[in-house]
Amino acid sequence: MTIPCVPRQLSPEETALAEFLLSVEFPGHDELRKQLKLAQVTGTCECGCGTILIRVNHANDKAVTTERVVVEAYGKGVDVLMFVRDGALSSIEIVDHGDARPLRYPKPEELSLWVPPPRSSGG
Ligand SMILES: [Zn+2]
Repeated sequence: MTIPCVPRQLSPEETALAEFLLSVEFPGHDELRKQLKLAQVTGTCECGCGTILIRVNHANDKAVTTERVVVEAYGKGVDVLMFVRDGALSSIEIVDHGDARPLRYPKPEELSLWVPPPRSSGG
């Protein structure tokens, strides 16, 4: 469960991970890259996994996305998912398959990117 925090800049590690996720092409990619510069962290997961909630201030460039999860990354025992809501970055979720907390923050060089294919409508 995520708990609100005083809005803050993304940490260097969080920025590096976000830039890595946005280094691959997918629908809405260009707008999200612009939004990242305006993004603030507004909440973090209480369990210590590193999941963050993101708010984009004055998002003039709305991303037209078909998926809520626009891009994912996979590492050893860890998945990273970037969520978009109403055309703006909304969270970077970190899912791991172990019990270690706080979880060591995933590094881009340990991850492989994956863009979820668009679902067929009605599915
Ligand atoms: Zn968590």
